[in-house]
Amino acid sequence: MKTFLRLRGIKWVAMLGIAVLLSISLLTWTGESVRAQEEDLITKAELIAKIVDYFKWPHPNQYNDIWKYQVPAKKFKDVKTEDPYGMQIEAAYEEGIIGPDENGNFNPNSPITREDAAVIFVRAFKIPESTRPTGYEDDYMISEEARGSVYALVELGCMKGRTETQFMPKAYITKDEVDEVFNAILNTVTPPVYALPRQNYTAPRRYVKLYCADPGATIVYTTDGTDPRTSSTAKVWNLAVNGHLGFEQLAPGEVNRKVVIKAYSYKQGLLPSQVQTFVWYLYRPAAGSVNFGHRKILDKTPTRPAVYAIWNDADSVRPMMWYIEGQERGILFDAGQTSASVLSLKEYIDTYIATKPYDVVIGHSHGDHAAQIPNFINAGHKVYCNKRDWPGLVGGFFGPLLPDPADQAKVIDLDWGDKLELGGCTLYVYALPGHSNGNIILQDKVNGLIFSSDIYGCTRAGSADNVGVSGVKADLLLSLVQQVYSSYLKEGGKVTMLFTGHDETPLEDLNLKLFEAALQQVMDYGEAACTPTLRGNRDAPGSRTTMIGDMWYDNTHWISLKLAGIIGDNTEYLTRIDEQGINYNEPNGYLKYSVLSNIEFEGAELVGTKVTWANPVTITWAGQEITIENALPNMFNPWVYDYTIRVPRGRSEITVIPTTMSRRVTSIKVNGQEVGYREKVRVSVSDGSVITVEVVAPDGVTKSTYNFTVEME
Ligand SMILES: [Zn+2]
Repeated sequence: MKTFLRLRGIKWVAMLGIAVLLSISLLTWTGESVRAQEEDLITKAELIAKIVDYFKWPHPNQYNDIWKYQVPAKKFKDVKTEDPYGMQIEAAYEEGIIGPDENGNFNPNSPITREDAAVIFVRAFKIPESTRPTGYEDDYMISEEARGSVYALVELGCMKGRTETQFMPKAYITKDEVDEVFNAILNTVTPPVYALPRQNYTAPRRYVKLYCADPGATIVYTTDGTDPRTSSTAKVWNLAVNGHLGFEQLAPGEVNRKVVIKAYSYKQGLLPSQVQTFVWYLYRPAAGSVNFGHRKILDKTPTRPAVYAIWNDADSVRPMMWYIEGQERGILFDAGQTSASVLSLKEYIDTYIATKPYDVVIGHSHGDHAAQIPNFINAGHKVYCNKRDWPGLVGGFFGPLLPDPADQAKVIDLDWGDKLELGGCTLYVYALPGHSNGNIILQDKVNGLIFSSDIYGCTRAGSADNVGVSGVKADLLLSLVQQVYSSYLKEGGKVTMLFTGHDETPLEDLNLKLFEAALQQVMDYGEAACTPTLRGNRDAPGSRTTMIGDMWYDNTHWISLKLAGIIGDNTEYLTRIDEQGINYNEPNGYLKYSVLSNIEFEGAELVGTKVTWANPVTITWAGQEITIENALPNMFNPWVYDYTIRVPRGRSEITVIPTTMSRRVTSIKVNGQEVGYREKVRVSVSDGSVITVEVVAPDGVTKSTYNFTVEME
């Protein structure tokens, strides 16, 4: 049991405030006046902020871990999260360093006694309490619950009396004294190991991060319950190399598991930290033991569809399904991980959600997004799945989801340019390879709703969900991502809410920008922009990953994309075209990007070309052998240099917006005139005229020239 620090008898101090308090010179002990100046004292809030900022304990609002909601956020009655230092105070409460007084308050603006500060320091640094008296004359005045802490800090030489003979435990600690104690501790003991996620809730899977406030310290840990100081199984923690420790493999039939990590830290010249024991409980209901759940995200209006989130807690990766319903029809986007033979999602939707007939769209055919297809096919629902993802339905990692040739024959291909009419709203269809070859995205342009399945990743901290993009080269993916985004905005389209395959709540336009930026930094800085995967035990160590933000501190505003290969290996994760003498995978190859990744026109339409990102695949489908191309027609291809653009007859000027693959290019010229990255350039046009775009790479040498021939129509 934890006993929380309670400040005794100074409740009124908070009400009066420090200034009043000082003016009546309360701070007088044993006849000696220690009337401190107001600015010399530190408030409880300031002390906690100082400590939390040092340890970097995140506030629960700073990470997107859905399982944290099992326990109510720890709140003081007199502290709001948005108060000055509110985040830090609540984070310290979560870490068990502080607790409420008998009225549920923290009294953030009150000063803090020397002995109470000692208790906070000892808890934060996990210093063992001592029973050795201080030797000060007023030792007897130290309260029972602060004694072990004061004794420990005095014994370590980290805290001294106010005078030669007096400790003055009840005097308020000054800022200078706090700095002295803090520095003395940092020069004496290694800061202890902390762990994320916090241990007070269960989840079906956990990725654990151990961290120490001193970056120069070494963390040693065990996962088998043995003492890391002596165990032969002890390992050195290295987040940069190994990522988080993954604990997610609940064996078939297993619903509970206890994960124990013991860890300590050490640093040359300092005392090692105490061993901390962290315990997490994994729990996942047996398949079929719990039904699906759902939550309405958006109400239906005459011009907006209703949107519902659907999930099943028995699913190991808890994919999200989205039911979207307009005035006349509905769409179920993705069909989950729950086996069709265990539960029927159709029955669930028919019973609890749908008020109109509906069809099913599979965002991508991985087994955690398509498992319920057979139940819908059997009941006569239309089921759409992009052809390039059909191989996933008859084979792949999750095994055949749709083995029956008669069922396969009923699946309808869906691709970029298609539209689904729901009554009062239209869903536009896009395709973006990366996570899978046939990933489909739906957009409601009017309301700015984007349904993307897994292609844009997921921000859930609990599962360290980076998304793999190995199906396509990273530079080509950047180009396609930009082209898809440009298409979202066409015809007055908006982007306001992004519904992913594993986020319980919609993300924002910012997440699409982060996805692009994560790829962009690799084009701008090459391998130097890559970091190893966060997913220890699952991805190969050092898997080449590009990341923006931190999943423990940036809530949903972070992204992690796993590219192909291992950092430093020779996997070709960037484009190589031998006929053009291009290989960006060479050392410093990224400095040779002289290509455009996107080109947008206002007042003209690009006649695109075919973009192929992977080899064709041959499968047996509905009893026949078919070959499926991994290509999109009518796209801008960065390595094709001649295009036609269609301009309505009578127009004499259009706008060109060039986007270069590298933001570090030496020069961009439109019709010979130097322009900026993504600058809107007005250009005169006539039938047959040619617009040239010349790009010189960051290396100052490599150059590409594009010709766009105007065709008036
Ligand atoms: Zn998924």
